[in-house]
Amino acid sequence: MSITVVGSVAFDSIETPVGRRERCLGGAATYFALAASYFTAVRVIAVVGEDFSAAEEAVFTARGIDLRGLERAAGKSFFWAGNYLENLNEAKTEQTDLNVFSSFNPQIPEAYLDSDFLFLANIDPVLQKRVREAMPQARLVCGDTMNYWINDHRAALVEVLPAMDVLLINDTETRLLSGKQNSVQAARDVLALGPRALVVKHGEYGATAFFEAGAFGENVDARRAFRAPALPLAEVVDPTGAGDSFAGGFFGYIASQPELTRAVFRRAMFYGSVMGSFAVERFGTERLQELSREEIDARFERLRELTHLD
Ligand code: AMP
Repeated sequence: MSITVVGSVAFDSIETPVGRRERCLGGAATYFALAASYFTAVRVIAVVGEDFSAAEEAVFTARGIDLRGLERAAGKSFFWAGNYLENLNEAKTEQTDLNVFSSFNPQIPEAYLDSDFLFLANIDPVLQKRVREAMPQARLVCGDTMNYWINDHRAALVEVLPAMDVLLINDTETRLLSGKQNSVQAARDVLALGPRALVVKHGEYGATAFFEAGAFGENVDARRAFRAPALPLAEVVDPTGAGDSFAGGFFGYIASQPELTRAVFRRAMFYGSVMGSFAVERFGTERLQELSREEIDARFERLRELTHLD
């Protein structure tokens, strides 16, 4: 089984209370792909510029990630700068340079067309829709978005939401999309826009899944919401990519299982939390590059202990 992901591959400059890093490898598709690669085969669709070197490429290939859909264009790669000096749960964006992304027209390699799973990472919703339509065979589609698209490109975003089986966004984005403050009412409003399930990420407080009635048929008991905790960590070095790593663990685990059942959905939420917790322990993608499945499963057990009553 394989997941195809479309999204940003970027250079990030990041400042947190722990320190600063200039131009480290980042991007939503990068974090997603690395996290998901511990569970299943991953294929990337993105664009980079001439500043993307063999060293960055090796981060993907060392994890077996397929880069045949990574276009190399003249110019510079997407660049993002942000800080977490006031709030560790939410980045303050200082600079966004789209660079080669401004004229990105995703090309899907023939070899990707048999992917059963598709992740539409944070990117222009027009492109998300185009990729979904070009990959009609994908059985399960998950996606993400951000405040910029919600505020300034709402019409295009609303067009792609019905194509998503699971939308994964954070609390602020959920409220922004619905206009409501109450989290349950906001979730209902977002589900009414079309996704069959909504996973709201609460940063250091975990994540909650809400379902459209009857979503995923008999297999998933969709009547009730489900909450996965986040692992309490003594030090958060860099929160960048936590949300995309959550999505990678979540979707990667689902793709590795024979079918989507209630238990698989719930475990996927825990694996999402696990991958998010690793992502924040070091700057950039450092920690996600060198994990083992044993470490991942040990942390899964810690989450289970954290929440079980007996
Ligand atoms: P996260 O912390 O999981 O929400 O995602 C962080 C990543 O999103 C960073 O590595 C950035 O490169 C990337 N990013 C930031 N802004 C954008 C944007 N407007 N479009 C696509 N990717 C972005």
